[in-house]
Amino acid sequence: MKFIDLEPQRERIRQLLDERIAAVLDHGRFIQGPEVYELERVLSEYSGSAYSLACSSGTDALLMSLMAFGVKPGDAVFIPSFTFVATAEVVCQLGATPVFVDIDPDTCAMCPDALERCIQALGSRAASELPAGGLSARGIIAVDLFGQPADYQRLNGLAEKYNLFLLADAAQSFGATQSAVAHGTGVCRVGKLAPITTTSFFPSKPLGCYGDGGAVFVQDERLYEILKSIREHGQGSERYRYERVGINGRLDSLQAAVLLAKLTIFGDELCLRNEVAERYHGMLSGMISIPRAADGSSSSWAQYCVRSSKRSDIIRVFKEAGIPHAVYYEVPLHLQTVYREKGLIIEDLRNSEQVAREILALPFYPYIPEGAQEEVANAIRVALGH
Ligand SMILES: *Cc1c(COP(=O)(O)O)cnc(C)c1O
Repeated sequence: MKFIDLEPQRERIRQLLDERIAAVLDHGRFIQGPEVYELERVLSEYSGSAYSLACSSGTDALLMSLMAFGVKPGDAVFIPSFTFVATAEVVCQLGATPVFVDIDPDTCAMCPDALERCIQALGSRAASELPAGGLSARGIIAVDLFGQPADYQRLNGLAEKYNLFLLADAAQSFGATQSAVAHGTGVCRVGKLAPITTTSFFPSKPLGCYGDGGAVFVQDERLYEILKSIREHGQGSERYRYERVGINGRLDSLQAAVLLAKLTIFGDELCLRNEVAERYHGMLSGMISIPRAADGSSSSWAQYCVRSSKRSDIIRVFKEAGIPHAVYYEVPLHLQTVYREKGLIIEDLRNSEQVAREILALPFYPYIPEGAQEEVANAIRVALGH
């Protein structure tokens, strides 16, 4: 059994992949070739975002977004502690301070009530109590953990109320939806739920390439122009003339070609992911705490994570049965020495700590056989003594 198996997908679109890759080899424009522009058009169409910018990774997408906002030392950026390290890393790379906010234990996303308490508490703290003699609140990075969008209805409202930028780290949730009133009525896809959204095309994400890749989705034209410049070493409208400090943040044409091939079946794969999740729900509900998309949201099911206080018993049975599994994330960032020192904790992060003790990711991919899911469910049944 495999935790994630990319092979069935590869064989399904093998011919298209071969053709797309051959086209890049033939035209030879490996950097900023036509596939990159085509991909950006398709991504905008699919997500509904006004602008899409392909880039080198999900981490660079976050970094470039913070650079576009001019994040600098003395700035505080509110982030969940229960996330992949990249969310905090980019804040620290720019010398700013991550302020850790607790999560909602049901969605594993940032809790809007905890966020508002932290914003208010930071505002009323004396400068002498804060690192480097003072911090000003600049922005929020929400994370759509395991594929489910955070509560953008409320987060957008808080960002406006306190004049903060809101960045959605949608590395795991590309393809998910949420009914959104703040940004036009109706259901919106990830990419349009926040003013700026980043995603990752790491191979195991819901939409993955065959290397590193990512994208930024942005609604504001000025911000888009700044991001384009940052992606190209800060270049201005003339070649080799620089207007700002940037990075090499480009996606290469081969990866864009792979993504274009995969996008032809992405919608169908999202349906398959939902079917696989429904099957797990049916096998596991009543036995263990299962993940559910909140009302008004759909998940892209980057991971299927159950929760149990008997996690170590389940892992023991999984090991005996040869069932692959993973723990995302064992240690929340505020408990990791480097980020405890660099970051700020305003109130306790008990949900993050509790979920980190209980979370367990099960084998999951669109083409997982039902028999494999049954094996997983049986192992859990044995471990829990049902
Ligand atoms: C995967 C991931 C990233 C980083 O994406 P890369 O493409 O690997 O750089 C950032 N944030 C979250 C929440 C992720 O899961």
